[in-house]
Amino acid sequence: MPSEPSRLSKSRYLSGLQCHKQLWWRVHEPEAPELSPSAGQRNLFAQGREVGERARRHVPGGELIDLPFHQYDNKVAATREALQRGVPAIYEAWFLADEAYVGVDILERTSRGYGVIEVKASNSRKPEHLPDAAVQVHVLRRAGLQVERAEVMHLNRECRYPDLSNLFVREDVTALVESVLIGVPDELAAQRRMLEGPLPDVPIGEHCTSPYDCPFIARCWPKLPDHHVSKLYRIERKRALELEADGYATIYDLPSDLELSMIHARQVKAVQSGRMVVEAALTKALAHFASPLAFLDFETVSLAIPRWPGCRPWQQVPVQFSVHVEERGRGLVHHEWIADGPEDPRPALAAALVDACAGARKVVAYYASFERDCLKQLREAVPRFAKDLERIEKRLLDLLPAIRNHVYHPDFGGGFSIKKTLPALVPGLSYSDLKVQDGEVATVELQRLMLQGAELPAGERAALRDALLRYCERDTWAMVKLLETLRSLVADQLELF
Ligand code: SF4
Repeated sequence: MPSEPSRLSKSRYLSGLQCHKQLWWRVHEPEAPELSPSAGQRNLFAQGREVGERARRHVPGGELIDLPFHQYDNKVAATREALQRGVPAIYEAWFLADEAYVGVDILERTSRGYGVIEVKASNSRKPEHLPDAAVQVHVLRRAGLQVERAEVMHLNRECRYPDLSNLFVREDVTALVESVLIGVPDELAAQRRMLEGPLPDVPIGEHCTSPYDCPFIARCWPKLPDHHVSKLYRIERKRALELEADGYATIYDLPSDLELSMIHARQVKAVQSGRMVVEAALTKALAHFASPLAFLDFETVSLAIPRWPGCRPWQQVPVQFSVHVEERGRGLVHHEWIADGPEDPRPALAAALVDACAGARKVVAYYASFERDCLKQLREAVPRFAKDLERIEKRLLDLLPAIRNHVYHPDFGGGFSIKKTLPALVPGLSYSDLKVQDGEVATVELQRLMLQGAELPAGERAALRDALLRYCERDTWAMVKLLETLRSLVADQLELF
């Protein structure tokens, strides 16, 4: 049986703490399309569940309340029964008091009462973990339990596979929680009253993205006009609001005497003239891109619980690459590698990568610091290729700043990611024809291919693998075409003079 709308739960309380309007929609429109989790969110939930299960091993001897999620009352009754039996710990203990249900990840018996342990899949404790623990302590105390300790148990960024004995850090947050507790009863009452009335009127503000992005932003926030001042490249929200308050709603409205950074000045010039702006210095910047070139892109997976030597929680591990390389007499040749099993992919990936980049004078990447980090990590993981990988790292060249510091097209929309610059500079080429169209989905699907691929039907597995290969290939092909376009822009300029 689903919960009754009038009853609050821990997750509802926390969303109400962020915004009453958000909570009202969550309760009264539980089927709202905005509430369907994205592939990335589903992946985070699944990894969070794994972390929760693993955490139990670090508080052994407990009993799991193992009932279906929506059987709240049965879970409360089973918890009460386990408490009466005096078990040393309960995993997924449930309580109802003050018209609110809460689930406790781990309830541990202490010398004089109980300790609440909130397990988090993050690498550190965050401010938003405190109200989470506080509402649990409040409900448990109202249910008659003597709660004397509250802890946040989060992942430990110092942990390295294969030694997972220090996978978690337990932080005692009792004193901090006691100070938050004071506001809980009033807030619970305010949320209950609000839910019985019509949709509350809550103005938009900083709370819409803090501590989490609200799923209803598209409903509440006004649609901004094209080239709104907030689209100036990386402008601070405060500065954009100031410009708006001064009467400059869009980039078209900005006066010519406004002091601007070089990039903003180029952006304003391009938008106001409706034409791409190309700086003469682009010629010099492109001189570094000397053939034969390789174009490199990595895709990574990020696992909460590490599973390969030397890896820490949530480390981004390269598991796929695409390389387009200029080869004498053969033109552009494509190399690719993808992991499709659960074993450590890095030794085989490193070998294939060194091979693919062997003849290149420079290795081009887009936002190269990411590729640099991947190469550094590969050097540590596969020492026998350390020297070769270091040579690739030393030859890295970043295409992104060549564009950002010299070119602005009105269709960039205030950003220089390859998803923005590619369709503007190379019309007809984008990611829209691909099954996997963005990095977040690629990460999730790579993880599925590697860790669950063996359970997939052969056809589905092959299609998934192919979709991932095509996505990564598009990234390096995009760089090839972008560089071609930039060179033609330079040639056009030379003709003008
Ligand atoms: S967008 Fe902001 S105001 Fe609207 S429901 Fe979400 S948090 Fe509340």
